[in-house]
Amino acid sequence: MSFIIGNKCVGCIDTSCLNVCPIDCIHGPIQIDNMGREAFNLTEEEKIGKQLYIDPSECIDCGACVPECPVDAIYSSEKEAIQIGDEKSVHLNYEFFGLTYNKK
Ligand code: SF4
Repeated sequence: MSFIIGNKCVGCIDTSCLNVCPIDCIHGPIQIDNMGREAFNLTEEEKIGKQLYIDPSECIDCGACVPECPVDAIYSSEKEAIQIGDEKSVHLNYEFFGLTYNKK
């Protein structure tokens, strides 16, 4: 199980979540290897169509990121995202890190 960043992040990329994640497992929106720091330098125009992603293989499910997001884009599990109708974001979060989400 992992927390999942949903479609409300697209075009927003507020970055508050990056400052609280204790293990720096939030990455993107473009590169995988800089723990999301690249997002600090994006212009509003460059944010269009992009979002941040949580690495499902690293997330420790602490929940620290959830209250930081001003647009409530973070789901507490894959199951919650799917129940809300945002399964696409589950797959996007996994695929960004080269992983595949298998619904059981
Ligand atoms: Fe990071 Fe905790 Fe959010 Fe997972 S739940 S992305 S470990 S802050």
